[in-house]
Amino acid sequence: MPRSSAVRPEEIRRHNLSLLLNEIHTRGELSRTDLTARLGLNRSTIGALVSDLVELGLVSEYIPARGDRAGRPSHVVAPRPDGPWVLAAEVQVERILVASVGLGGRVHARVETPVDVNAATPAMLASQIAREATRLADAMPPGATLLGTGVSVPGTVRRRDGLVEHAPNLGWREVAFADILSAQLDYGVDVLVGNDANLGALAEHQRGAARGLDNVIFLNGSVGVGGGVIADGAGLQGTDGFAGEIGHMMLNPDGPSCHCGSSGCIETYIGEHALLRAAGVTEGFGPATTAAVLAAAEAGEPLALNAVNQVSLWLGRTLANLVNVFNPEAVIVGGSLAGVVRLGRAVVEAELGRRAMAAARAAVRLLPPGLGSESSLLGAAELAFQSLLAAPDAAVSAPTSRLAN
Ligand SMILES: [Zn+2]
Repeated sequence: MPRSSAVRPEEIRRHNLSLLLNEIHTRGELSRTDLTARLGLNRSTIGALVSDLVELGLVSEYIPARGDRAGRPSHVVAPRPDGPWVLAAEVQVERILVASVGLGGRVHARVETPVDVNAATPAMLASQIAREATRLADAMPPGATLLGTGVSVPGTVRRRDGLVEHAPNLGWREVAFADILSAQLDYGVDVLVGNDANLGALAEHQRGAARGLDNVIFLNGSVGVGGGVIADGAGLQGTDGFAGEIGHMMLNPDGPSCHCGSSGCIETYIGEHALLRAAGVTEGFGPATTAAVLAAAEAGEPLALNAVNQVSLWLGRTLANLVNVFNPEAVIVGGSLAGVVRLGRAVVEAELGRRAMAAARAAVRLLPPGLGSESSLLGAAELAFQSLLAAPDAAVSAPTSRLAN
């Protein structure tokens, strides 16, 4: 940090504006008193900053009804529901999710479309997203500014430029999906792409089950198994942004072949298709079939129950390796794998206990996602909010000059 004499008041104001908006965005509505305490600024400074954010159309203020407490109630500052918003999209192997998301991580609307990635090119998926985006944009209040678009993909994404380097289960190699989607969207806003599990970890850390925790692993298990790691409070990226490919850690070189080109990867033992095959399913793979197998296991059907136990055993082994390497406070398991944990938790925990080193095992909790099935989608929204949160007054101008989309 530069010496205070070198920092101009305008820079300090911008910095504080960003801090205040981040607080409201992450925590939801807060009273001026809470903001004063959390940011360590005086009341008049908070008042001036809030006025700026109100003027920019980002937050609104209201005076709460008097409760039991004596004295004048503090103004409450809340994200504006008709304020700027972002498009978030999540490309999965069997469906696409698209949502309009406002400040505070509020999902205005969300649509889900089944897709067949084996038949669809990246351009076809982009046009599907663009179609849904138009419908979502039409449903937003007039004058609400679209800030940008964030996309989650189940593959390795190069940090430098957002290139999807390899998405094994989509059959993509070196796909510039941001450019492809950008060409189909009419809004002239940036499109940013990230890895699904890294984005899920980010969102869970910001407003989900990992809030306030510094060392967390998010395992996103569906057809593919992705991983996102929060280490010492920050997302682990690796040299190019490819870190966290937990699904492609090798358990057995003689194991089943994997879409990534290797064999015996973790994904081939705990991914959705491993569960279905173990349950005797040979065709009709998809979310409905997975849900049916989990329901059958819950009802005590022996083959389905055995499949859940088998996946749980390998999941326990996977978690033991992760716990030994990262010493996390929590492991969050999302996707359809969360359903396996719900039913097979005793098996997972027993195997984790047997295989992990005792001290690291004692520190870790196994948690469901705080954001349900929306971790990666909300993480994608965060990509698109980044520039606003960094410099609120640069990203939007005062309401009178805001453009209707
Ligand atoms: Zn693999």
